Amino acid sequence: MNAEEFRKYGHTLIDWLADYRSGIAERPVQASTQPGEVRALLPQSPPGQPEPFDAVIADLDTVVLPHLTHWQHPAFFGYYPANNSLAGVLGELVSTGLGVLGLSWQSSPAVTEIEEVVVDWYRQMVGLSTSWVGVINDTASTSTLVSLISARERSTEYGLARGGLQGESRRLIVYASAGAHSSVEKGALLAGFGRENIRLVPLDDKQAMRTSELKRMIEADLASGYCPCAVVGCLGGTATASIDPIGEIADIVQEYGLWFHVDAAMAGAAMILPECRWMWEGIEGADSVVINAHKWLGAPFDCSLYYVRDEQHLLRVMSTNPSYLQSSVDGQVRNLRDTGIPLGRRFRALKMWFLIREEGVCGLQSRLRRDISNAKSLQEKVAAMPGWKVLAPVQLQTVCVRYEPQEVNPEALDQYTRAWVDDLNRSGEGFLTPATIDGRWMVRISIGALETEADHVDAIWEAMQRHAQAQLKRYVS
Ligand code: PLP
Repeated sequence: MNAEEFRKYGHTLIDWLADYRSGIAERPVQASTQPGEVRALLPQSPPGQPEPFDAVIADLDTVVLPHLTHWQHPAFFGYYPANNSLAGVLGELVSTGLGVLGLSWQSSPAVTEIEEVVVDWYRQMVGLSTSWVGVINDTASTSTLVSLISARERSTEYGLARGGLQGESRRLIVYASAGAHSSVEKGALLAGFGRENIRLVPLDDKQAMRTSELKRMIEADLASGYCPCAVVGCLGGTATASIDPIGEIADIVQEYGLWFHVDAAMAGAAMILPECRWMWEGIEGADSVVINAHKWLGAPFDCSLYYVRDEQHLLRVMSTNPSYLQSSVDGQVRNLRDTGIPLGRRFRALKMWFLIREEGVCGLQSRLRRDISNAKSLQEKVAAMPGWKVLAPVQLQTVCVRYEPQEVNPEALDQYTRAWVDDLNRSGEGFLTPATIDGRWMVRISIGALETEADHVDAIWEAMQRHAQAQLKRYVS
């Protein structure tokens, strides 16, 4: 494809995407695709000869669109808001179109320096002190893995330069709240701690880490001759958007000398609201924090901000310096490859730069405030309706509910809950993802898609009641 053809098809595809976004509310939210259905639409072997690009574009309408679950739909209330602001989409387009890689500062200086600036803008936006330095990683899973490797290396005084974990005489222990995201356990496993050395700290009635239990577990491990190494606290737990008591955990890690990582992948966005900052009071006592700008905030996936307080430690753990990457300015610049796992670096900062400039801090704040207010008003409506229960505090944009009509036998309640949610999702009217709380199924309404207004939240509440009623007769005992 030459530049003129790119111009032509590029215009066509931007128009196509603009039409998709402006008409998205008319589509069913969830795809009704059967397994293998999309594969069956495609030739099983690649085209030997070039195809007209118009044919490729036409397939988007027939092969792709009918088989998508539409995350940008205003009635998408599943998982978490994965907002792709259109300004961010353009940033992503420019990043890919430029096709530059940040292997070192020298390999494309703007890649490093714009990243440094936008990450520092965001630090200011969430009120972190100047002692934090950040970078953009792909995902929170990567950031948490990097954090746990850093914790391991601090506890072992850089055991990687000797025998690694295999050279340690004491077991290293990681603690995380029982509501932590699966990426925390995965990160601990990949960092070599081993499943037997991961402790899940029980939750209190607000689904937050019980710090008295954390302390008790650390004491028990010390008494057994183990080495308590790291605690991962959560700001915006996956099931209920729970908030761990960051300040209390910070005091405990200080007392025992542990590493403290805060997984604020979800709720880090809300720290741009001064009225929400109480949620991470004590954050200055942490060693690292991850915030996914690719969730509620609006940067297209992938864009995970990772901040540390001791950058020298991170560099010592992560840096490599092969001759082919050295340059004459190395003493004066940051080479961001030395802060994480991959060598290659996409120009992710562009989409953050576009997003923050296009919406402004005020625009981002008012969108998040709208979502929190919509969540609180849904909470009130659910709580006021007989038989319906709100199961966890609504502090952000997630509302966790269950309908418990007297007619349904408690043993059938899990099945009933899943049935009416499936029914609603199949209808295409909205999309919800159920999850468990205290071992029982419930329904999460995760509010915050870019286009979701109060009317859409009212509509999903009406649909929930209707689908719950429609399934009721199958479950009455
Ligand atoms: N932590 C929390 C609290 C999350 O909600 C998620 C995403 O679902 C993650 C971590 C993992 O995010 P990522 O997909 O960026 O690895």
